[in-house]
Amino acid sequence: MNSPKNNQPTIFVIFGGTGDLNARKLAPALYNLFLDGWLPEQFAIIGTGRTELTDQAFQEKLLADINQFSRNGKAKPATWTTFAPHIYYQVADVKNADTYQAFAGHIAHLEKEWSTKANVIYYLAVAPEFFPIIATNLAKSKLAADPECTRIVIEKPIGHDLESARALNKLLGEIFDEQQIYRIDHYLGKETVQNIMAFRFANAILEPLWNRNYIEHVQISVTEQLGVGDRSGYYDGAGALRDMIQNHLLQLLCLVAMEPPVNFNADEVRNRKVDVLRAMRRFTPEEVRESAVRGQYGPGWIEGKQVPGYREEKDANPQSNTETFAAVKFFVDNWRWQGVPFYVRTGKRLHRSASIISIQFKDAPHCVFPPETGESWQQNRLIISIQPEMSIRLQVQAKRPGLDMMLNTVDMVFDYKGTYIAEAPEAYETLLLDTMLGDQTLFMRGDQVEAAWDLVMPILNSWQGRTSQSFPNYSADSWGPEVAEALIARDGFHWFSLPLNAKK
Ligand code: NAP
Repeated sequence: MNSPKNNQPTIFVIFGGTGDLNARKLAPALYNLFLDGWLPEQFAIIGTGRTELTDQAFQEKLLADINQFSRNGKAKPATWTTFAPHIYYQVADVKNADTYQAFAGHIAHLEKEWSTKANVIYYLAVAPEFFPIIATNLAKSKLAADPECTRIVIEKPIGHDLESARALNKLLGEIFDEQQIYRIDHYLGKETVQNIMAFRFANAILEPLWNRNYIEHVQISVTEQLGVGDRSGYYDGAGALRDMIQNHLLQLLCLVAMEPPVNFNADEVRNRKVDVLRAMRRFTPEEVRESAVRGQYGPGWIEGKQVPGYREEKDANPQSNTETFAAVKFFVDNWRWQGVPFYVRTGKRLHRSASIISIQFKDAPHCVFPPETGESWQQNRLIISIQPEMSIRLQVQAKRPGLDMMLNTVDMVFDYKGTYIAEAPEAYETLLLDTMLGDQTLFMRGDQVEAAWDLVMPILNSWQGRTSQSFPNYSADSWGPEVAEALIARDGFHWFSLPLNAKK
């Protein structure tokens, strides 16, 4: 069954069809959209790469990838035989202008067969250095000339700094309309992240509390247990600030801090997010030292296994000054948030993988109960857990059952698994479907990307200019360097993490 919303014939041209992103995310997402009836009747997937493959060999490769990575498990033979004929492969070097004529021929052939014009989505699942080359060649061969029917999808990183992001946006802007450009931050496609807007703007009880009068501080933590593995080549030129904070964490911060949009129109939502980034306080070099800290992991043990330090990872630079951990204290200088610190942290090889937003409310103005009623009196806290646990919990004080008046903290929990039977779609399913439907709400607009770079540039510049003498400064399986504890402890707070198997 096809969705009535999506009957437009569609061709996906996947540059980097033989790569890891297509194998682990795009191909399984497209297959799952097919299973759930979200793909139109007439669709085609054209994978490309320099590797020599026939259509059939490419289909077999994708089947193996889907069997390994799809949330729905192995493909059923009967379904696969209806899906596979939609998949094609074309050997192509993206630097070679002639190969684009071959794409044009393939697209024209499909459109003739379908007797209709198709939407064509060019997905750039290749290294960022190829973005300008592909975009320019698409323009030269007039493959993206129709703004109504052609779209281009690019993955992060979008630029390496403010200047390169501006240059890329300028180039793309000369070739495509902004409505054709889909810049992916896959965090925005996650079910729990989308729910932040639903939770904030569909519930009247929150808005009166959602400001500096009631909220003491906000924490956003995206921690990873994995190290850099064999990605040192890419990671060493990036680091935690570029790889995570400039995009994923700032996107989450925008969702927490944005003003209510007038409606759910893509530009209206994105305007409100850009307002947040513009209102965020820029750092002077002195303020960078006070408000931003970095770390790099050394060797250690995780779950009984010895793991190498960052500088000893495969192909790593043994003198690397790249941070694998970053924590920053931001402020949003506007009427709603003046004076409320937003602490963000992210790092690799930490104690546990978890993405959590914790909103801590101010103390009750007056305690009517005697001090001995609560040994662990705690301020109210709202915890939005994005992954792996998908939940929203409100921590409140309650009377412990018994004859005496004793208080303790309890959690009121909305847990996705317990509430909904249907499994949440993968972020890439949501994002690919939105690209097909032409809905840009969950994609980053060019000015949003640049505003985020503009905010982090003083930190990047300061860190690049100062070699850290303390690296490595945290060990595997810890919660990061001591400087990160000190950053938040100076203000009287501590980093929050959900206990493992938090009680439902
Ligand atoms: P990858 O596994 O190294 O794949 C790179 C792809 O580019 C391969 O299909 C390769 O095909 C193709 N390619 C390289 N040079 C080419 C050329 N001259 N002409 C045509 N094709 C060429 O990389 P990846 O992990 O899939 O990442 C792709 C992009 O997505 C990167 O920008 C990355 O940062 C981003 N990304 C990846 C992930 C992920 O989970 N992997 C997540 C988020 C973002 P041949 O070798 O066959 O030529």
